[in-house]
Amino acid sequence: MSPSGAIMERDSSCTKGCLFILSAPSGAGKTTLCQAVCRHFPDMLYSVSHTTRPPRPGETQGIDYHFITKDGFIHMIESGEWAEWAEVHGNYYGTSANFLNRGLEAGQDILLDIDVQGMLKILKRYPSSITVFIRPPSLEALRERLESRGGDKPDIIEIRMINAKKEMAEAHRYRHVIVNDDLELATRELILLIDSYRQNRPITHNPYPLSIPP
Ligand code: 5GP
Repeated sequence: MSPSGAIMERDSSCTKGCLFILSAPSGAGKTTLCQAVCRHFPDMLYSVSHTTRPPRPGETQGIDYHFITKDGFIHMIESGEWAEWAEVHGNYYGTSANFLNRGLEAGQDILLDIDVQGMLKILKRYPSSITVFIRPPSLEALRERLESRGGDKPDIIEIRMINAKKEMAEAHRYRHVIVNDDLELATRELILLIDSYRQNRPITHNPYPLSIPP
């Protein structure tokens, strides 16, 4: 505690809420890790992206994405409502600035699951974001995982592998890199990492009020 009992910052990363940004190539276990983080920290907000693409079978409005119209999305671009947005394969995707700002102001931690381009845009606007890249132990291991999942045809696996190589070349842009060789260990490492930032919050109350000088 500071002598005056005023706010003391032990780490300037999380002055109010923390933004945790997770990126990973497809098949590196990011979704499972995000779910584990949200289970472990029930007060963590998860940033659900907005998109103009139609829902796929099994996807739920507000859980997988906020599905909105193209007109609505463009209107929100014009009124500066996106913290970041991108056009991918003819569809728009974006992260609501209002959602992030309101959460952070209220002191909530927020988890974002976005790609490297989105991460760079968020980092420009929220420079104290904590960025984590999840990487597979090797490209061969990633290929094995993609093949054993059985959900993708060989040509799709090839595209995922090409994208994974590009994404892994960007890992140095992240503050932390976690190798997901063993899912349980990677989950533990990620939770410990997030917890260390949450523990280093500035102290916003004075536990010893009588020691405050007049
Ligand atoms: P899908 O339509 O397969 O769910 O996602 C297609 C692409 O959009 C993926 O590469 C995904 O990373 C990207 N994406 C999803 N949400 C967002 C977002 O909020 N912002 C940006 N920039 N990209 C996103």
